[in-house]
Amino acid sequence: MMISSRDTKKLQAILDRIADTMSTASERGRVANYIPELANVSNDHFGLAVVPVDGETLISGDADILFSIQSISKVFTLTLALEKYGSTIWDRVGREPSGDPFNSIVQLELEHGVPRNPFINAGAIVVADLLVEGRSPQQAIAEILSFCHGLAADAEIGIDQDVARSEERTGFRNVALASFMRAEDNIRSPVGHPLDVYFHHCAIAMSCRQLATAGRYLAASGDVHGDATKRISMACVRRINAVMMTCGHYDASGEFAFRVGLPGKSGIGGGILGIVPGVASIAAWSPGLNVKGSSVLASRAFEELAKATGWSVFAAPRRS
Ligand code: GLN
Repeated sequence: MMISSRDTKKLQAILDRIADTMSTASERGRVANYIPELANVSNDHFGLAVVPVDGETLISGDADILFSIQSISKVFTLTLALEKYGSTIWDRVGREPSGDPFNSIVQLELEHGVPRNPFINAGAIVVADLLVEGRSPQQAIAEILSFCHGLAADAEIGIDQDVARSEERTGFRNVALASFMRAEDNIRSPVGHPLDVYFHHCAIAMSCRQLATAGRYLAASGDVHGDATKRISMACVRRINAVMMTCGHYDASGEFAFRVGLPGKSGIGGGILGIVPGVASIAAWSPGLNVKGSSVLASRAFEELAKATGWSVFAAPRRS
């Protein structure tokens, strides 16, 4: 059986039950601490938001508390780059799962500075390099932020400057990745520029409600809240959902596809964005992570939500 996103009552009851279970869960994972500022977040939080393609937004738990979206921002920068530069971006970044952690260096040397996909850090830094070409980091950051404002229909969304500075001070692996790619001529601006852009877009803060609203275009065939000037092409939406499915959880992407069956993107702030094409955009958040860098409870919530609703890209609803 598949629950319709219009069946508000049933869906709200499912969300509340999941939020309830998560609030008392004892196995909550560990909050990321390699970016010092992120370590200050309490691991007690859990939030969930569902934004149907048509229908009202449903939330449960801490769905209005801001958190650092971190790598989930890579979905939005990839969308912006694809819309601006089209398929030429694939000359500089691949679209295969890496099977390695998000900040891995080893593959990059073997593959001559061309990152496997746009969601591992190296790939996202190349995307940032594309977005900063011919302009200042400040201009590129402002463009990304304003793009997110449009997607989320919310101009209040901002960057947590403490998180950005914290990563700037400690992001040595990312500096290494960018420098190596510069040596291989796959970073074209001075390395500090794409890194500046990358650290800032990772530090964008959103609530589950804002994040699920921002991701709605991926469920709604590119529609951005009915604004024709902001519409994202269908070709781009298909590509992004595909890369989210195959690479959105790094070396745990297969596991997310197996357990949940939806395109998803994780971030080390503890958020996960998931897409049910044609149906809804979903955001879940809880700061504690597993060893692969995905939120323990947000992953669990997606699994339970998919099971309860029947939402999956791999199985059509049974006709009764
Ligand atoms: N900003 C983080 C980093 O570069 C993003 C990682 C993530 O969310 N997986 O390490």
